[in-house]
Amino acid sequence: MPVGTLSISGAGMAGLCAAARARELGAEPAVYEKGSRAGGSMLLSSCVIWRYREWEDFRAECPTGDERLQRVVWEGLDDGISWLESLGAPVVAHETGNPRTVGKRFDPRGLTDTLVRAAAEVRLNETVKEQEILATGGFQGSEPLVAEHIHPARPLRLRANPWSSGDGLRLALARGAQLSAGMDEFYGRNMPDADFTEADFVPAAQLYGQYARVYNDHGEAFFEREVSWSENDLVQATARQPGARAWYVLDDAALGERIRGRTVAEIVELAPTRVDPVELPFAAPPGARVAVRVSPGLTHTIGGLRIDEHARVVGTEGLHAAGADVGGISTGGYASGLAAALVFGRIAAESALDRL
Ligand SMILES: Cc1cc2nc3c(=O)[nH]c(=O)nc-3n(C[C@H](O)[C@H](O)[C@H](O)COP(=O)(O)OP(=O)(O)OC[C@H]3O[C@@H](n4cnc5c(N)ncnc54)[C@H](O)[C@@H]3O)c2cc1C
Repeated sequence: MPVGTLSISGAGMAGLCAAARARELGAEPAVYEKGSRAGGSMLLSSCVIWRYREWEDFRAECPTGDERLQRVVWEGLDDGISWLESLGAPVVAHETGNPRTVGKRFDPRGLTDTLVRAAAEVRLNETVKEQEILATGGFQGSEPLVAEHIHPARPLRLRANPWSSGDGLRLALARGAQLSAGMDEFYGRNMPDADFTEADFVPAAQLYGQYARVYNDHGEAFFEREVSWSENDLVQATARQPGARAWYVLDDAALGERIRGRTVAEIVELAPTRVDPVELPFAAPPGARVAVRVSPGLTHTIGGLRIDEHARVVGTEGLHAAGADVGGISTGGYASGLAAALVFGRIAAESALDRL
């Protein structure tokens, strides 16, 4: 006997997890997807679903995040991952490769297909104005909203699905929602400062800022402190430099460093914006062998709707949200967006059904 119908906006990680959980509880969810395919940014991702091994590390890495929401994600993730496996989602690796984190890497196509099957009713190219659960994936796809909240020095290229343009934020604000902390923060990667395609999102990311000497166009070393392991602090600082770009200048030692099975030299090779140091717009530092012009690719916003531990959107009546529509979890740093989407997607379904 169905316990109720449920309308969910967004067929990415959070929306599909909510729908699969709702169906498991006997409800009849319908997922409305604005795009022409299911999976959202999850389908394009590296699909490592993780948490910090130690709670204290999570707090230290994301110090301005809402501690209650962080606790829910941290405590609920292992169960969430087991649930995905129980549905048949294919695991590619049983660890993250980072000693500070625990989690699993899934095959993104296999995970999407598994969740779509479990969700059962996914309506592509359709949106609705009234829904119980918002899971539209953040506002990075809206240039005006990004300009208003994040203030990059120029519009940033998108490193995400093209459809997440703040619909959830606008719909919820019209229903009285409150905003979280960190509305000016985002998660992304410094990419070659040139156009790129979805196929470049992961391999072309210039994830070696920690080994580079970093300058802006004026030759100013604008990031003097230690770069964090995710490099998200350096990426966000780059967005605020003139032209929203930076130069990574590398010597021989830096080019020989290894990141995730590749040398820095191999990653640099994929950047069409690499130049000889004599071509820099400022005097090259001693030892420079090559320089790469980079600019942030915007993956998802970190600020968003304020929710409580039950995924209820604060300030609204009966509205729930999960995934990148929600803010205040990885604020001040970086944590797994897929993990938060999984945990709060499931909670949103349970909480919304409770209310019906
Ligand atoms: C290249 C890349 C690598 C990544 N790697 C990782 C990783 O290894 N680990 C990790 O934790 N995270 C990673 N991420 C981030 C992760 O993909 C996101 O955090 C996660 O997908 C967020 O889930 P979501 O459901 O909020 O958004 P999404 O999965 O993007 O889903 C949102 C969905 O909502 C739809 N939508 C938008 N507006 C509407 C509307 N009005 N009505 C209906 N549907 C709408 C969109 O089309 C989309 O399908 C990566 C992302 C990218 C792009």
